[in-house]
Amino acid sequence: RTSRSKMPQYPGLDRWILVDKMGDGAFSNVYRAKDATGELGEVAIKVVRKFEMNSNQRANILKEVQIMRNLDHPNIVKLVDFSESRQYYYIILELCPGGELFHQIVRLTYFSEDLSRHVIVQVAKAIEYLHETSGVVHRDIKPENLLFYPAPFVPSTHPKPKQPGDEDKEDEGDFIAGVGSGGIGTIKIADFGLSKVIWDSQTMTPCGTVGYTAPEIVKDERYSKSVDMWAMGCVLYTLLCGFPPFYDESIQVLTEKVARGQYTFLSPWWDDISKSAQDLISHLLTVDPEKRYSIKEFLAHPWIRQTDEETTPAA
Ligand code: ADP
Ligand code: MG
Repeated sequence: RTSRSKMPQYPGLDRWILVDKMGDGAFSNVYRAKDATGELGEVAIKVVRKFEMNSNQRANILKEVQIMRNLDHPNIVKLVDFSESRQYYYIILELCPGGELFHQIVRLTYFSEDLSRHVIVQVAKAIEYLHETSGVVHRDIKPENLLFYPAPFVPSTHPKPKQPGDEDKEDEGDFIAGVGSGGIGTIKIADFGLSKVIWDSQTMTPCGTVGYTAPEIVKDERYSKSVDMWAMGCVLYTLLCGFPPFYDESIQVLTEKVARGQYTFLSPWWDDISKSAQDLISHLLTVDPEKRYSIKEFLAHPWIRQTDEETTPAA
């Protein structure tokens, strides 16, 4: 963790005392910050380097902020404020003290079915709100953009098999210790940098048009929602086994595998994961977007609807 004395100073950000750096992106650094006035608690501040961006990229930041302004859901990071100086944009966000879900997967190696369900149901509630209420598609759902509040949730453990590239990792002890040192409470979707408004939530019509919309536009809108569903399938797969469904050293080979939907429930890592979970994933990792599960179908699946106590390993 960076020490406070090393925190940079930004013009026009006087209200906030930067505490430490929480993450970064192509054009941004994200800091944890305290309110100097004491009125608000801690926040996250995404400081975007305007001076490195072209007008298109700047417009995208404003779009990201505009989309976030209109969202209000317990599983979506809230926009607290937005301001800018000559060189920077300051996006003040609700702080997610746990950080990225990504780091938690690395730490725990993989999640139990109960913990995976606890996580993915919250992601799904946010997606349902985006797709069905707000007319927004996120388009960048991945473990780095899923943040959380820590909570003492204790997942049921199952013996930890070795995974590819796992040779020099710690065994069970690490996993148990990870569980004990704080689980995952509330999940929040972050990063609306690639998201898009597909229809107007006021008029319930595709954006910018009333009644003259061509069928391919209506279809496009359905397709764009389905990209979030594919990504949820990838996230759920990764939560349950600790590695992604599609991977290859070569980008060309990887692209080909994704295009063909070429993935497997690799033995022995998937041997003890329920057939019901695998069935749900296969309905998300379906190449044909028309056949892929919608958010409504996802939420109605038996694996999602079952309670923690009912979870049983595959026969
Ligand atoms: P980018 O578009 O550059 O990916 P993000 O909005 O995803 O920007 O932020 C980058 C990283 O900063 C995230 O992956 C996360 O680690 C951290 N971060 C962003 N927002 C928050 C927040 N509200 N609370 C805690 N950490 C955050
Ligand atoms: Mg991001």
